[in-house]
Amino acid sequence: MKLLRYGEKEAERPGLLDDNGNLRDLSDIVSDIDGTTLTPDVLARLRKIDPNDLPRAAGNPRMGACVGKVGKLIGIGLNYSDHAAESGLPVPSEPIIFMKATTAISGPYDPVELPHSAQKTDWEVELAFVIGTRAKHVSEADALSHVAGYCICNDVSDRGWQIEREGQWMKGKSHDTFAPLGPWLVTADELEDPGSLDMTLDVNGTRRQDGSSSTLIFGIAHLVHYLSGFMTLEPGDVITTGTPPGVGLGMKPPVYLKHGDVMELAIAGLGRQQQTVTAI
Ligand code: ZN
Repeated sequence: MKLLRYGEKEAERPGLLDDNGNLRDLSDIVSDIDGTTLTPDVLARLRKIDPNDLPRAAGNPRMGACVGKVGKLIGIGLNYSDHAAESGLPVPSEPIIFMKATTAISGPYDPVELPHSAQKTDWEVELAFVIGTRAKHVSEADALSHVAGYCICNDVSDRGWQIEREGQWMKGKSHDTFAPLGPWLVTADELEDPGSLDMTLDVNGTRRQDGSSSTLIFGIAHLVHYLSGFMTLEPGDVITTGTPPGVGLGMKPPVYLKHGDVMELAIAGLGRQQQTVTAI
């Protein structure tokens, strides 16, 4: 299934994408696409529904982030060796973890804000996964059974706040609109191998990132296992797994986003995002 949320910000309705590409409304069935919906029993119930029996969404609504009420939004840093190299940093021996504020979450086509306080704002196409059942001290062998599905995340990052200021990366990762999620959440049963997905990111039509989740240093099963060893992952938590090379920071000289730039992201099987950068 491709689960999604559509409508005005803060008032999104749950829905799904049918096989013909139509948005179908799920609000008579579930209250939202969130941690309460992504559990295996509810997903099994949704799978039994014939999408043709659901009402079609009217018009051409805004797409919201594909998961609501996210409890934790966790980023993995330097999880591609060639991205670590372009960042001038060593390949980590254990996953680098940072948090992104959940207030950064936005829709896949919403504008990305370029705040005055951020001078070095950069793009990062990433494969994200969403937890469906509570994970605490899970083995790597059981890890994938805790994953409800997958989506695209643009881990928008301001390198000034991330790297040049004191303290943690969270500062550069958390501005409003720095975490577009979607356009939809593809449930795990529908994705044959999340470990071999091609992904790209273009800025103003120029290809900047061209990678594959097959070159992740720490794969999804290991990340669930690793994270659940020191924090409980709850249904609806989102983990974004790191970016392949080709970010603005790695260009010589570095190139950062400016007002009016358009980012287009794609991951095989997960759809596309597009955001226009807007100075505020
Ligand atoms: Zn990232």
